[in-house]
Amino acid sequence: MTEQPCPVERSAVAAGAVLVSGASLAGLATAYWMNELGYRVTVIEVAGGLRKGGTPVDMEGEAIGVLARMGMIDAVRAKALPPRGFEFKDADDSTIGALGGDGLSDNAPNERFEIHRDDLLDILIASVARTAEVLFSRSIRQLEDGPDGVVVTFDDGSRRDYALVFGCDGNRSNTRRLAFGSSEDFSYFMGGYFFIKVVPTTALLPANMSQIFSVPGRSALLNGYDNQTDIALAFRTEREIDYDHRDRAQQRRMVHDHFDGLGWKVPAMLEHVDADDEFYFDKVNQIRMPVWSKGRVALVGDAGYCVSPVAGMGGSMAIIGAARLADALQRHGVDHAAAFQEYDDKLRPFVEEVQEKAARFGMALMFPADDAEIAERNRKLHEGTIDL
Ligand SMILES: Cc1cc2nc3c(=O)[nH]c(=O)nc-3n(C[C@H](O)[C@H](O)[C@H](O)COP(=O)(O)OP(=O)(O)OC[C@H]3O[C@@H](n4cnc5c(N)ncnc54)[C@H](O)[C@@H]3O)c2cc1C
Repeated sequence: MTEQPCPVERSAVAAGAVLVSGASLAGLATAYWMNELGYRVTVIEVAGGLRKGGTPVDMEGEAIGVLARMGMIDAVRAKALPPRGFEFKDADDSTIGALGGDGLSDNAPNERFEIHRDDLLDILIASVARTAEVLFSRSIRQLEDGPDGVVVTFDDGSRRDYALVFGCDGNRSNTRRLAFGSSEDFSYFMGGYFFIKVVPTTALLPANMSQIFSVPGRSALLNGYDNQTDIALAFRTEREIDYDHRDRAQQRRMVHDHFDGLGWKVPAMLEHVDADDEFYFDKVNQIRMPVWSKGRVALVGDAGYCVSPVAGMGGSMAIIGAARLADALQRHGVDHAAAFQEYDDKLRPFVEEVQEKAARFGMALMFPADDAEIAERNRKLHEGTIDL
């Protein structure tokens, strides 16, 4: 006997219901704005709770103004991390060049600060949980886009229809796959892989300092805070490596294959690599799509236009993208197609500029591939022409 699909709850479109997939920076910011626009918002998140962890995110440029418009800027500033110094090291731990904390401080002409990703998530969810339905351990199985709404089938088999659906589910977006097809068609490989682990030790470097040590094709990066340290190890490869995303032992072996035998603080960093499976390992990539919407489905943040970790703009971009989408919807009212077109037209030049800069300069600066890129980086350090 074939299983009958659940009946669709048909009241949702009439009530202006929208669905946000992904409860991270893009998803929670999108949920905030959709509530402001008067929609009835449901947020679903595949994980059992907010997915915490990771390195701090930078808030800068337009994102600062957006956070102010959201009434969150004081809460965010209160959690901002102190200005950070950045040192480029050689194998003897001598400093080849440094970028001062002042350039990255909140006294700089363009306000810019770092905040722990978890702190920003807490600020966003505190607001969104008051106004939106937030469902954890939930994912979309199927999207059926029609002229009057999108019928969504969830992974538990239940079905509801929505006026609009927003895919805010990150670099490997499920919504993107369902609405636009294979992820690989939009993933732009930037020529490397990175491992990140946050450890509760402060012995590796001073607080409020970042240090990076690079040899051709391999970089070891530390971010120091007063109570924890980010350990990052990145290596370059020309082509993508075929590996099992779930096999942590294999990923650890890949890190060892590239970093065993290196000097500086690498041996101490590798001890943390071996400690447990709590780490983040992925390719360095961007998401480049010709359009960010299809019918009544639109993508926000990494799902549509991941700029890569080397851009240092992923968090800001998610906050900016959500606000730009909301501004466009506010201007065009029920004409979602015109709103999505405007969102795309106006945001795209900025996204492309950030992606281009990350691909052309970010990789060579943070993860130089060869001696020539290291020499060029050192030349810029001595001239003082590096812009982080
Ligand atoms: C746990 C974690 C750690 C991170 N650490 C770093 C880091 O150290 N350095 C760095 O540069 N970037 C990191 N990132 C990425 C960074 O948060 C994003 O680049 C940026 O903030 C843009 O946010 P986003 O909301 O678009 O995407 P993300 O922050 O990636 O959020 C996507 C959300 O969608 C959820 N999701 C995924 N699939 C589904 C699904 N099928 N259904 C529903 N929800 C789904 C995810 O669980 C996640 O909560 C991390 C992301 C996560 C989730």
